[in-house]
Amino acid sequence: MADLAGTPTPVLSVRGLRKMFGDTVVLRDIDFDVLPGQAVVLIGGSGSGKSTLLRCLNLLETVDDGDIHLDGREITDPRVHADEVRRRIGVVFQAYNLFPHMTVLRNVTLAPIRVHRRPRAEARDRARELLTRIGLADKLDVYPDRLSGGQQQRLAIVRALAAGPALLLLDEITSALDPELVGEVLTLVGTLKREGLPMVVATHEMAFAHEIADEVLFLDAGSIVERGTPSQVLDNPREARTQQFLARLT
Ligand code: ADP
Ligand code: MG
Repeated sequence: MADLAGTPTPVLSVRGLRKMFGDTVVLRDIDFDVLPGQAVVLIGGSGSGKSTLLRCLNLLETVDDGDIHLDGREITDPRVHADEVRRRIGVVFQAYNLFPHMTVLRNVTLAPIRVHRRPRAEARDRARELLTRIGLADKLDVYPDRLSGGQQQRLAIVRALAAGPALLLLDEITSALDPELVGEVLTLVGTLKREGLPMVVATHEMAFAHEIADEVLFLDAGSIVERGTPSQVLDNPREARTQQFLARLT
C-alpha cells in the first residue's frame, strides 16, 4: 500500500505512546515508524523501557495513551482482538522461547497448525524448509534441550517465522548466550533483514545494530532521547546521555 505521493504505508506506526506502571511513567511520547523492509533498533540501559515497548507493540501490555497501527490498522483500538494481532507479529525473547516437551519440528509446526489452521503437511514442509536453512534438518525429532544455546535461539526465530509474520520483535535475543554462539544468531537476523522482513530489535550488540538498523532509538528513563541513523547515533551521538551510555559499553 502507498498513498498518492508514493510514500509506503508503515508496517508499524507508533504515536504518542505512554505507558505507566502504577504511578510511574515507564514510556512517554514514543513516536516511530517501521517502513516496509526496515529495522528499527532500540538501545538503552537496563530499565530504560525497551522490553515494555516491545510488549506494548505486541499488546502484551495495555497502553495508557497514544496509538499503534499495524499495516494501517489501529491495533490499540479496544475492539481489536489481541490474539489476532499477535498472530501477525513474531516475537523472540532473551530466553525460554521454546516448548521443552515438544520436538524441534513440533515447536515450529504447532502455531501454524493450531492457530493458523494450516494443513499439517503444508506446515511440516514449511518447517522442514526453515529448519534446513538453519542447519537443523537432522534434528527434527530431538528435544530443544539437546541443542546448543545458539541453535535454540535460531530455532526460536524460525518458529516465530513459521506463520509468515508481518513484523518481527526481538528482545535481546543473544543476551543469555555464550559469546561464541552470538554470531550465528545475529547472522540469521541479518539475513532476514536483507530479505526484507520488518523488525523492531532491542539489543546491546552495537556492531549488529550498526549493520542492520535503518533507525536507532536511544531510550533513557522511558523517553527517546536521541534517534537517527546508526552513524548518527552510534558514531556521533549528540546527547550527553547517549555518549555516556555508549562509553560504558566499550
Ligand atoms: P529494559 O528492557 O530497557 O531493561 P523494561 O521495559 O524491562 O526495561 O523496564 C522499564 C521500567 O519498567 C523499569 O523501571 C522496570 O522496573 C519497570 N517495569 C517493567 N515491567 C514492570 C511491571 N510488570 N510492573 C512494574 N514495573 C515494571
Ligand atoms: Mg529488557
